[in-house]
Amino acid sequence: MRTLLKNAILLVEKDRWETVPRGFLGINDQRIDYLDAIPPAQSYDHEIDLENHLILPGFFNLHAHTGMTSLRGIGSGLPLHRWLKEAMFPREAKFSPSDIQRSSQIAILEMIASGIVSFSDMYIQPWLTAALVETSGMKANLSVPFASKDFSRPEIDQERIDTAVKVFQEYHQSAEERIRIDFAIHAEYTSLKASAQAYSEACQSCGARMHLHLAETEADVKGCIERHGVTPAAFFAGIGTFENPTNAAHCVVLSDADIEILREKGVAAIHNPSSNMKLGSGFMPIRKLMDAGIPVVLGTDSTASNNNLNFLEEIHLASLIHCGAAHDPTILSAEEVLTMATSAGAAAQGRNDTGRLKVGNKADLAIFDLDRPHLMPVHDAPALIVYAAQASDVVCTIVDGKMIYDHGKYLTVDAEKAKADYRQSCARIH
Ligand SMILES: [Zn+2]
Repeated sequence: MRTLLKNAILLVEKDRWETVPRGFLGINDQRIDYLDAIPPAQSYDHEIDLENHLILPGFFNLHAHTGMTSLRGIGSGLPLHRWLKEAMFPREAKFSPSDIQRSSQIAILEMIASGIVSFSDMYIQPWLTAALVETSGMKANLSVPFASKDFSRPEIDQERIDTAVKVFQEYHQSAEERIRIDFAIHAEYTSLKASAQAYSEACQSCGARMHLHLAETEADVKGCIERHGVTPAAFFAGIGTFENPTNAAHCVVLSDADIEILREKGVAAIHNPSSNMKLGSGFMPIRKLMDAGIPVVLGTDSTASNNNLNFLEEIHLASLIHCGAAHDPTILSAEEVLTMATSAGAAAQGRNDTGRLKVGNKADLAIFDLDRPHLMPVHDAPALIVYAAQASDVVCTIVDGKMIYDHGKYLTVDAEKAKADYRQSCARIH
């Protein structure tokens, strides 16, 4: 099946972002096979006229915890460590596998509706989410996250490490390569050093990628220095974690020496502006990271610290907060934020054939309806998307050439059943 999307504005990232005011994008099966300002010579099986629409690469949400979506709204007003210990961990202990799966399903619906095509998830029992990713048509990097269960019993940590390896062997590159398996260390403060080191070595033996929380708050860094005499970045570098390609969430409290470690080790920094603002964690030193050549990508974090998975909101906040904090409107450009949300995210997931509109790439697309008062006129398309667009302007989400969301309708998931099941779970947990 070959489909031609015609007469749309195309946002194409080459060395810089370019706007094709009236473009044609052809899809052959899973991939883009035509991209130009003039119509193709050959005909397509199916043509969709997208006058007054804009096509972007779909978004990559690099930091999520989909299994805890049902905790949306719990613990508001608490700082990170009290929020985790008083509001999150006791409720998560009550989750059954079906609670986790129903939360993940709702998260998937919410993400698809804001143009997210792929997400990196850090949540236990990832096989539950893998089944949903497979049927939804989305892409995901899943993981068996590591945290030491009992600091007085290091021997029981091996079980989690063994499970991570087993899940990697069973699920990596499954669902037509839409599912990738990463390793994930929850954080320095929830891990015994020797166990985190063994888990990092297991990741390396699999040739996998690493996902972790890093230097989220002042308290994280202070506690790590008290426990180990070094910052979290130096701690993970010291136990070999960064020998794996690593994506580090938050990166709020970093010294110049920490930034040098991340640069040298090729660590990507995941920016979670809503979560950092909501939990009062602080501001990522984003300009310093970018100027050091560190890839910066974007994530929502969970609905318990956000409280939604609306990627346009994340894009909007990322584009504004640093300019305000620095009293400098040039700190971060709209184009840089779009790159964070698309191609940089794809690369940080280890996906080399997506993230840009390009012939040969997978057709992973978000289509925006511009026929709306707040999206007129289109003087500057990147600025329009970053500063003015809303998630509700996304009318179609396409993954691997397949339409999975079309004008409010989910084409791969029974959304009504998912919502009914989820309501039951939420009622039981709270
Ligand atoms: Zn997180």
